[in-house]
Amino acid sequence: MQAYRRPLAPREIDHELLWLLLSLGTFVLLAVWLAARLATPQCAFHALTGFPCPTCGATRAAFQFLHGHFAVSFRFNPLAFLAFCAVAVYDVYALVVLTTRAPRLRLSNFSPGEKLLVRCATVVLLAGNWLYLLTARLV
Ligand SMILES: [Zn+2]
Repeated sequence: MQAYRRPLAPREIDHELLWLLLSLGTFVLLAVWLAARLATPQCAFHALTGFPCPTCGATRAAFQFLHGHFAVSFRFNPLAFLAFCAVAVYDVYALVVLTTRAPRLRLSNFSPGEKLLVRCATVVLLAGNWLYLLTARLV
């Protein structure tokens, strides 16, 4: 894997701006949704099987995360909590490079071993999170 910094090329998609706007738009939509006390979506998998799916608890985790209750957020769905943390870090990075016009961080040239490692880590994280949800029975 190669990590490097470079300025945004002409006509290149501005990923930092795109994903920051999408993230903030989602945040505003979620905040309005929760403030209006609209019903949260029910999980079809849980309704059918009685068991939580890998994303069960993510809405409650988001609600707690947005209120600064990070330990509670983690307990509802650890993987969702980690994703929220990653999004927050990315948003700070994107905001900094957009406001300072700093070079963009890019990753490329992943070796086959690195790609396999990422795939395996993803499967382990998803399976571990689901196992936690199945055993914690928070739903
Ligand atoms: Zn679910």
